[in-house]
Amino acid sequence: MTNRPMRIALPSKGRLSERALELFELAGLRPAFAADRALVASLGDDFQAIFVRAQDIPEYVADGAAEIGVTGADCVAESGREVTELLDLGFGRCRLVVAAREESPVTSASELPPGTRVATSFPRCATDFFKGLGIKISIAPVSGATEIAPHLGVADAIVDLTSTGSTLRVNGLKEVGTVLESTARLIGNPAAVADVQNGQLIADLTTGLESVLRASEKRYLMANVPRDKLDEVRDVIPGLSGPTIVEVLDSGEWVAAHAVVDATLVYQTIARLKELGAQGILVTRIERLMP
Ligand code: AMP
Repeated sequence: MTNRPMRIALPSKGRLSERALELFELAGLRPAFAADRALVASLGDDFQAIFVRAQDIPEYVADGAAEIGVTGADCVAESGREVTELLDLGFGRCRLVVAAREESPVTSASELPPGTRVATSFPRCATDFFKGLGIKISIAPVSGATEIAPHLGVADAIVDLTSTGSTLRVNGLKEVGTVLESTARLIGNPAAVADVQNGQLIADLTTGLESVLRASEKRYLMANVPRDKLDEVRDVIPGLSGPTIVEVLDSGEWVAAHAVVDATLVYQTIARLKELGAQGILVTRIERLMP
């Protein structure tokens, strides 16, 4: 156990950085920077954040320079380093795919001939994927704008990240295989996770972040409903373990029903409750939720 605060490696820029910071802030951990553009910030009393490239985070965590980190599953796979996955954070969803030129007769990665030149910034993942198919490829390493390589004649295919596929299409490429699916992950140094003191702090943080993620998908709904419609109301808002029913100080005709509902189902739920004669419907965000 070192006497420095526990270090969390967060993406300094790029697609994952904003969402990662937002998640920690929602969990009550707002970074306090000592100076503008500082790469280190304190994060509550227990943690220190270091801001580094998402691609480097598995190295920092595996080496123990940071006890935990947030990065893409693709970065973890490509690093080949051993880290403990603590939590799937859900954002930064993308796929690492094999793509070939649109006019190529190839429809599946397995049809690519041995010796195929593959441009990628994921040489390890690409090599392993084709090894699994029994195809020996040659890698053309690139660090960006991979999509152009097949058109320049430096590669026959690429392995690159995509989320909607539109960048591939715009660049005259088509997907012919999926290497892996990725989202942002909370990862930990295996020794730190196993350590009694550090492990407890890491587990508490993981639970805190998980409660924020769960809460973001839910809403708390309150409505005054006719007492004689309670059976139907229970069907519409079953909640986590049945709706909470609270007395309303009126003639006895109404009760208040409270329940957690899926954020995506709020509109339908309100409509169903209105049909049952509900009034005074109120929907609020939830900060944390642990079932
Ligand atoms: P950066 O290169 O710093 O923007 O970070 C890229 C990381 O964001 C990748 O390693 C993925 O984990 C994630 N990501 C999510 N969607 C995409 C996408 N459409 N293209 C590239 N990276 C993505």
